[in-house]
Amino acid sequence: MNLNQPIFLQPVFQERIWGGTKLNELFQYEIPSNTTGECWAVSAHPNGQSVVNNGPYAGMKLGDLWSAHPELFASKSAVFPLLTKLLDASDDLSVQVHPDDAYAGVHENGELGKTECWYIVDAEPGASIIYGHEAHSKEQLVQLIQEGKWNDLLTSIPVKSGDFFYVPSGTIHALGRGVVVLETQQSSDTTYRVYDYDRRDKDGNLRELHLEKAIDVTTIPQAYVAGSYNTRQAEGLAVTTFVSNDFFTVEKWDVDGTAQLRGGEQKYKILSVIDGSGVLRADGQSYELPKGTHFILPVGFDSYELEGKLQLIVSNE
Ligand code: ZN
Repeated sequence: MNLNQPIFLQPVFQERIWGGTKLNELFQYEIPSNTTGECWAVSAHPNGQSVVNNGPYAGMKLGDLWSAHPELFASKSAVFPLLTKLLDASDDLSVQVHPDDAYAGVHENGELGKTECWYIVDAEPGASIIYGHEAHSKEQLVQLIQEGKWNDLLTSIPVKSGDFFYVPSGTIHALGRGVVVLETQQSSDTTYRVYDYDRRDKDGNLRELHLEKAIDVTTIPQAYVAGSYNTRQAEGLAVTTFVSNDFFTVEKWDVDGTAQLRGGEQKYKILSVIDGSGVLRADGQSYELPKGTHFILPVGFDSYELEGKLQLIVSNE
């Protein structure tokens, strides 16, 4: 039996009040409803785990695979540390902030903190996000929140497909209506809600806010800083590195033609096909890669070929 295979994963869908139908329209996923907000594509988080689709581990949950076969990942982390999602913001998401590992460890039962990043897959004309805030001190932050001066406090940035945003813990942020993103984040589900546009649910209730914790963890001052990214070219492949730090490395791979990949670095990789389609070939096997496919290349899977015209977001810890 050939154990050296790519690990294809079955996503888990999450319904959200701000969700829509674009995960079906853009990726042909069978979504559970017209308010599908999230596709947890590569996840070992207990709130929604990916299941292996193929090969000797078919049917296993990613978290179980991680525990039972550490040799596939060669990681120092006790739990699968990352979570890759697609999000369809059909309406504005609530404005929020996440804690770092130290704060979450103390206040959230040992959860990880949440540093995340977004690749904008699709954006309607005029779409924007909230990224950062304009307060210069904690006193000013508290005052602007208490007075509800959200337009003075929150930094709004227009977005288009192909943009990338690094969102470290402590950054006040929100996706705006009409944006679809691929999110790479720490495997955490801890969110402190700052502002929900005073929206009421069908029973007339406001959603809970977590202002005290949010003010505790917000980085001050924090303003948006535009990133610039390097792209390196090889035969059939252009690789753009968006971020590489202690939490994760995230790259965009543009394949056009045939690209020969040689590994060497002993790291597993998480890959998501976000546009186009192609084929992965290795060890005499070939695997179709339609748009919307998510898979892991385990450690040791380091000599392969990608062919076609496709775009992938590739990450590792
Ligand atoms: Zn977030």
